[in-house]
Amino acid sequence: MAEKHKVPRTTELEFGGTLGALCLPVLLPLTVLYLLLSCRTPDASLFPPPSLPPPAQLWLPETLLLLLGWGALQGGLYLLPIGKVAEGMVLRDGTRLKYPINGFSALLITGGLLAVALPCGLPLGYVYDHMLPLAVSAGVISLSLSLLLYLKSLCAPASAIAPGGNTGNPLYDFFMGHELNPRIGSFDLKYFCELRPGLIGWVLINLAMLMKEAELRGSPSLAMILVNAFQLLYVVDALWNEEAVLTTMDIVQDGFGFMLAFGDLAWVPYTYSLQAHFLVTHPQELSALGAIAIAALNALGYFIFRRANSEKNLFRRDPSDPRVSGLETIATATGKRLLVSGWWGFVRHPNYLGDLMMALAWSLPCGLSHLLPYFYVLYFAALLVHREARDEHQCLRKYGLSWERYCERVPYRIIPYLY
Ligand code: NDP
Repeated sequence: MAEKHKVPRTTELEFGGTLGALCLPVLLPLTVLYLLLSCRTPDASLFPPPSLPPPAQLWLPETLLLLLGWGALQGGLYLLPIGKVAEGMVLRDGTRLKYPINGFSALLITGGLLAVALPCGLPLGYVYDHMLPLAVSAGVISLSLSLLLYLKSLCAPASAIAPGGNTGNPLYDFFMGHELNPRIGSFDLKYFCELRPGLIGWVLINLAMLMKEAELRGSPSLAMILVNAFQLLYVVDALWNEEAVLTTMDIVQDGFGFMLAFGDLAWVPYTYSLQAHFLVTHPQELSALGAIAIAALNALGYFIFRRANSEKNLFRRDPSDPRVSGLETIATATGKRLLVSGWWGFVRHPNYLGDLMMALAWSLPCGLSHLLPYFYVLYFAALLVHREARDEHQCLRKYGLSWERYCERVPYRIIPYLY
């Protein structure tokens, strides 16, 4: 324990500090339930709040077993010795962790298994019929996992502690994550949860919604096909570029606690699939011209998002890479340099700009008559504004004057001439 005191205690609390850490683990699951229940009402209205169904409709042990089975399948695929092994960023103790890069293979194998199981009668419509107990089970799994993670972190060495989740306040540290990269052997729990069960699960839920719509109305609508295609592209991209996740805030900076566990395992699959869920019972007419315009918005957003993320990832991995070595940079006292031309000279978070454009394109197929399918884009804008502020704060602390110079050179945060 004496060694642990060497880790500096954090005094700057995020997400509303202790109050946030107390309220968010209750409010976030309630929000998921609220959205799912609203989505099922005939007018998909957010007000007045839908009434809570009886416990038997919220809790089913079989959905818990199903999700545990799903996690075990994805865990097995994670362990398959296929694909390359990449090194993460340098840790405080000077070492680097190794990560398997086989998420895309996991997606393909899952797709192959589905292709075999669906014609054999796999009842995917079950997912639509049991969205509530599935989401509740995902919440139970996230909570149990975060409690175990917190207990595990108490035995972790000082070098493994996440500075942002090291306040000494157990509630806050449980929420933010006390240990940076908790592992069982070589199995990295945060990295696994970040891109596998929740993200691939989101694609599966979307597909289940598409099949349910086809079952109800004979064929899937254009709106449903677009939502499925756009979000599939996003997940395929994330898994194809899996290595890039190793330079993101979630992996480099944030500990693994309730915030990330619930986000990855419950929030992402059950709220990001809201548009497809909404379309099952609220069909929308979409003209060919409308579909083309929305697809163009998604394509432009994707282009900006991908280029910006790849540019920064390449630069951070190898600044002498010919694809980024010609870009203008400024030096910092840490030895790392900051890009001031290319995408990162356009705005300070070009990747967020592209991501937001895609978020809008995912909601537009649901028409303009309801607010509910726009939940994602509204929530995501708030998340990215907050995330951007957190990142700026960290970068100012890391790079000091050099960061201020960067902000002078690139004055806009996410949207040029606006924000
Ligand atoms: P970023 O990938 O934007 O990384 C931020 C880090 O990049 C900074 O901390 C800094 O780290 C480095 N950096 C910042 N400016 C520069 C610069 N000018 N030159 C070089 N390096 C710079 O962080 P996120 O993890 O927030 O986002 C990753 C992706 O994930 C984004 O595309 C985002 O939209 C997406 N995302 C999606 C979510 C979803 O739910 N769909 C949720 C959250 C994120 P350092 O200098 O230490 O390398």
